[in-house]
Amino acid sequence: MDLIPSFSVDHTKIVPGIFTSRVDVLGDEKITTYDIRVTKPNVEPAVDVASMHSLEHIIATYLRNDEEWKDQVIYWGPMGCLTGFYLILKGNREPKEIYDLLLAAFRSVEDADEVPGATAENCGNYQMHNLEIAKWHARKFADYLAKNAGKSEIFEYPKSERLVTEDGRQFFDS
Ligand SMILES: [Zn+2]
Repeated sequence: MDLIPSFSVDHTKIVPGIFTSRVDVLGDEKITTYDIRVTKPNVEPAVDVASMHSLEHIIATYLRNDEEWKDQVIYWGPMGCLTGFYLILKGNREPKEIYDLLLAAFRSVEDADEVPGATAENCGNYQMHNLEIAKWHARKFADYLAKNAGKSEIFEYPKSERLVTEDGRQFFDS
């Protein structure tokens, strides 16, 4: 069964939030890719690369140690545009069902004394980190999630027709 959505996302209308990007079927299991959108694309400055890298390490460590969720987590990593992260989980939950997890994950950044794995043995660019600005971004996003928890636009993407390239291929960014 082909579950790749035929719609695209209108990036001019996106606000930060937790969104389903795509649902795939792997054998008997569904897996869901979420966009965890931290900044408003092309309006707010995107997250700087060093802070993004620190948020990647800290939140990946949080998610993969959370007793309730760690077995569901397939992947956590930054978007190339630096406006958010991809989270891939087993199953097919509504974005609202992972709200508490993401809020707790971003809140946990505040408590970090150091970036886990920021050593030459564990990281491909261990000097490219910025814990203080990572904390600033994490606090801003967590406060935003808490303030807007009741709004549907932080859980549902504005959709548009998928772009087709000149040679007839559909455009994807992940
Ligand atoms: Zn790294």
